Amino acid sequence: MSSTVNLSAQQREHSDFAERVFKESGVDVLKCYQCGKCSAGCSVHICGGMDVSPNRIMRMVQLGMEEEALRTRTIWACVLCSTCTARCPRDIDIARVMDTLRIMAHKRGITEGFNNASVFHNIFMDSIIKYGRVYEAGLLVALKMKQSGTMFADLPIGIPAMINVAFRLPKLPPKMKNSDQVRRVVENCKKIEGEN
Ligand code: SF4
Ligand code: SF4
Repeated sequence: MSSTVNLSAQQREHSDFAERVFKESGVDVLKCYQCGKCSAGCSVHICGGMDVSPNRIMRMVQLGMEEEALRTRTIWACVLCSTCTARCPRDIDIARVMDTLRIMAHKRGITEGFNNASVFHNIFMDSIIKYGRVYEAGLLVALKMKQSGTMFADLPIGIPAMINVAFRLPKLPPKMKNSDQVRRVVENCKKIEGEN
């Protein structure tokens, strides 16, 4: 980690979190000097989808505010578009940091920042393991069942949306030629991460 911005002694005392984020992501968050360009270009933040702006997340990592950062909605709401990364004058890969924080939160079972995040993640991965890609209609139904115990929740929003996409979504689960290989990739990743 090089060319870091000077933090106060107290801040440096708590920089272990930044070290661990660096080890996991290869991104040196200590280089951030809080110009705010990442947040100014983040459409999710501008639309009010985040509780903490991306530059503040960087600051939280610098200050060792692990619990607070992992409990934000922001890390789950980030869509990894990398606009922030492209705008950062310090070449910080903010999107990668967001993903790393999400992995850290998931490993620790911290999901209150965005209640449906882990449910969505598990259904999404089940679909990948089963079919080799996402089966959107199945994902929608499974998500509704898990969230509300019925697939008829949010009907007023759901019906127009379904009509809109009905002709575009596959009606049956997709059949991928190489779905076995995808499954093996996922299983190997889990083994490497020690989840099996
Ligand atoms: S654009 Fe880069 S330097 Fe500026 S606040 Fe965001 S992360 Fe920090
Ligand atoms: S990668 Fe995430 S934080 Fe960065 S601009 Fe996109 S949504 Fe915002």
